Amino acid sequence: MRILITGGAGFIGSHLCERLLGEGNEVLCLDNFFTGRRENIIHLLDNPRFELLRHDVTEPILLEVDQIYNLACPASPVHYQYNPVKTVKTSVMGAINMLGLAKRVRARILQASTSEVYGDPLVHPQQEEYWGNVNPIGLRSCYDEGKRLAETLMADYHRQNNVDIRIARIFNTYGPRMLEDDGRVVSNFIVQALRGEALTLYGEGQQTRSFCYVEDLLEGLIRLMNTDDQHQPVNLGNPGEFTIKQLAEEVMKIVGADTGFKYLPLPEDDPRQRKPDITRAQQILGWNPTIPLHEGLVKTVEFFRNRQQNALAS
Ligand code: NAD
Ligand code: UDP
Repeated sequence: MRILITGGAGFIGSHLCERLLGEGNEVLCLDNFFTGRRENIIHLLDNPRFELLRHDVTEPILLEVDQIYNLACPASPVHYQYNPVKTVKTSVMGAINMLGLAKRVRARILQASTSEVYGDPLVHPQQEEYWGNVNPIGLRSCYDEGKRLAETLMADYHRQNNVDIRIARIFNTYGPRMLEDDGRVVSNFIVQALRGEALTLYGEGQQTRSFCYVEDLLEGLIRLMNTDDQHQPVNLGNPGEFTIKQLAEEVMKIVGADTGFKYLPLPEDDPRQRKPDITRAQQILGWNPTIPLHEGLVKTVEFFRNRQQNALAS
């Protein structure tokens, strides 16, 4: 199959490129390199079934493809708040352009949506039927509302034009290739612990998140894409729920550093709790995450340690 991955040079996208190439597909990786890095996909460039396109999804493009994974969008609060108007454009115009392409070439399209569509949830754990509790005008709104509108566009292109859509609501995902200065909690804590610095806890660190290892997520995304007639949103995440302080303690234990905590103010609209109900993914995809937090963190710490050592050596 010929598969387009927008945001293919990013954290999740680069793993997806690798995996789909490994399964024998032709992969077109489209990215504007805002948070994506050439080093994430450099090892794929020699593969004759791999093609790299420097392009911005806010601009239309015509390509012949069978499937589209629409992942283009900065995912970390630091990056999506850097230029919030651009973040909205990326989600909304990106979805319109990719849906237009899907309609024209009759490709199936999967939208990378997010648990952020539930906002600061009043229902716990979050099921797909929950409509969410999102501030429309806050600092996080450019991302949350952008993704909500991308879902709306997917649903309307399906109803109006019969485009074959998939919507994955991805919960916090981590693993190798996250950026050091990404600002997301897993990479922040690992980098701080490896540098011997105190770990930055926002608020009291009592807010919760559920962390999914990237390999598990890929399996869910690929199953969702390749299961027929599933046009409803599907939560993909690991239901193991931890406070941010528990995560910090686990990272320190794995790194072997006891650097303590530095308490900083809780960012505006920071969700207090988050945990996916994955019944739908279990039932329709037969999918379950298999990598517990400890095991995934060990692999991620190893990646960051190697990257740090390579940087010191060069
Ligand atoms: P990332 O920032 O590493 O990847 C995003 C990629 O999109 C980057 O390569 C970036 O350069 C590219 N991009 C951004 N704007 C673009 C534009 N206008 N045109 C073309 N390319 C553009 O983030 P990630 O964690 O790999 O996230 C990938 C997708 O999954 C995003 O859509 C994100 O919203 C979604 N998601 C991720 C998580 C998570 O925990 N990692 C959770 C929920 C949803
Ligand atoms: N967080 C933290 N310290 C950090 C970075 C993040 O305590 O150095 C907290 C943040 O306030 C949030 C949680 O960790 O409650 C997850 O943050 P992240 O940005 O990774 O993801 P999101 O908030 O988008 O789920």
